[in-house]
Amino acid sequence: MARVRLLLVNPRYPESFWSFRWAVERVLPRAKRTINPPLGLATLAALCPPDWEVTIVDENVEPLPLDPQADLVGVCGMGVQFRRQRALLEYYRRRGYPVVAGGSYASLCPEHYAAHADTVVAGEAEYIWPAFCRDFEADVARPLYRETGAVRLEDSPTPRFDLLKLDRYTTATLQFSRGCPYRCEFCDIIVMFGRKPRYKTVAQVGRELDALRALGVRNAFFVDDNLIGHKAVAKDLLRYIADYQAAHGRPFDFGTEASLNLAHDEELLALFRDAGFGWVFIGIESPDPATLRATRKHQNTQENPIESVRRIYAHGIDVLAGFIVGFDQDTPETFDVQHEFIVRSGIQAAMVGLLTALPHTPLHERLRAEGRLRTDIDAGNNTRLATNVVPLGMPYETMIERYRVLYRRLVSDAGIARRIRNKLAHMPAPVSRGEYTAAQRAGIVARLVFRGVLPGGWPRIRAFAHSLPWLEPRKLPLAISDWIAGLAMRDYVERRFGLRRTAGPRRVRRWTRAVERAAARYVRAGAVGVELAPDRARLALHLNGLVDGDFFRRTARPIDRMLRRTPTTLALHVEGLRESALPEIRRWLERLARHGDRVSVFVAERWRAALPVDSSVFDVVLEPE
Ligand code: SF4
Repeated sequence: MARVRLLLVNPRYPESFWSFRWAVERVLPRAKRTINPPLGLATLAALCPPDWEVTIVDENVEPLPLDPQADLVGVCGMGVQFRRQRALLEYYRRRGYPVVAGGSYASLCPEHYAAHADTVVAGEAEYIWPAFCRDFEADVARPLYRETGAVRLEDSPTPRFDLLKLDRYTTATLQFSRGCPYRCEFCDIIVMFGRKPRYKTVAQVGRELDALRALGVRNAFFVDDNLIGHKAVAKDLLRYIADYQAAHGRPFDFGTEASLNLAHDEELLALFRDAGFGWVFIGIESPDPATLRATRKHQNTQENPIESVRRIYAHGIDVLAGFIVGFDQDTPETFDVQHEFIVRSGIQAAMVGLLTALPHTPLHERLRAEGRLRTDIDAGNNTRLATNVVPLGMPYETMIERYRVLYRRLVSDAGIARRIRNKLAHMPAPVSRGEYTAAQRAGIVARLVFRGVLPGGWPRIRAFAHSLPWLEPRKLPLAISDWIAGLAMRDYVERRFGLRRTAGPRRVRRWTRAVERAAARYVRAGAVGVELAPDRARLALHLNGLVDGDFFRRTARPIDRMLRRTPTTLALHVEGLRESALPEIRRWLERLARHGDRVSVFVAERWRAALPVDSSVFDVVLEPE
């Protein structure tokens, strides 16, 4: 068989807290488009036969190729990407490409992909992906390749970092271990990777660091689900990294995920600091020991978690944390307890989620047996204000409402400022130095002030000024980055939890009338179809032909305002337009780009070359709705 051209695609994520969209779009340097690159695809690329020509496209940072020069298309995905992953698999398959599905959700639920892909690769890829590649070349690929044993991570190659556009991400990623010794009831990690942690060698890590350093990476995230699953092994790694940093002029700022018992080992904390780990994400879940014991998170119950968090701060390491509400012990009062804990602990990136039962986890099995699973809610999508768990200690609607209120309090100006003060009081000298130049830092601060602080008026200006450590300038970058994180979360909460003040019905009517007036003569001529949902939640424009530039000039402003001031979504369906209107529609789309996640665009095949639409900006619809 001739040399195989493989396209690997990471589907677009629905927006979540982790997107930090406001920060990426409004504050950070323009080149940055999202947070982390798809490490799994870079690893798959390294596992391909050496003569294969592999391209990686991440739909979150670049346009999707609609007619790629490829012999095979692979699409990966987590649960939250499943809908888009399925749509991409079906699209490429319809166009005649053989398609293969993989990723964490395919590993957990391969049965969900059988109808959408020619082959499903389920489980760790190190052995089964090369087997699939061999079979594909021999034209005998099977529908399912499933890893059922334990992969030795010594057999994992250095990922093809060079195939990722790393300058478009805030943080590069690498992995040292898989598996976690603990047994939290809700966790799918131990279902996928097991409870016996497995490791790469430090020499492998060294090669990966060499590769990242050669590509100019400064921020790197060890994506291990628990880097300290085996403390002695973790210490060896950290000593190696500290030596590596010293030998190469401390090129990296690191972050990782670890369990809270990190705080109980002074030597480990000192090694984290010496190796250049500036932050750690910890699943704290709940400050209530009874809840933690019930969910089998015993490792978090050894002391008051506030003490643990402060001990980590004392070593200059920032803490990002996950929290869960909706456990069986939780009541409406739990939300106040969580709020109090998060504020006192000073954790700014506090990711509070509703307890969700992921397929094949012990929690899922238990709740199914108890008849407490909602089947109308997609468990894979944790970005919505909903969960598939029926709570025990309060009505479902109460839980959702209290959750909404909890976030509203956390992202208030006072809430952001109090957490910064509470954190900095316990952090003498942050480890992180940041990757930006002095000029970039000045630009970031200016954009934060003009786009984030000043628009909040005097209350926010005061809260901002009072939270900054004026007499300890080395702590300033952390306070600034916490304000950026806090305001990005606030922006998300306001838009997604319906907390943003929106325009009244009179103004909405005025804008919709302006759109209808601008469209009237095209509608009469049958060139444009306009549909506005009765509740004005969705505007659909169908361009069928003979649409000229004037249409876009006249509709740009009212549509922009409507999207800016209301939660309305826009669906644009382009079947036809005048050739001369192309520059205007391109400008029109540029103007609407800031609302991209609420704008879906379908462009008929014959216009796609002339009117490419960036799927990392808009929701690009692949088939007519
Ligand atoms: S500590 Fe984290 S990775 Fe380990 S079992 Fe618990 S939730 Fe899963």
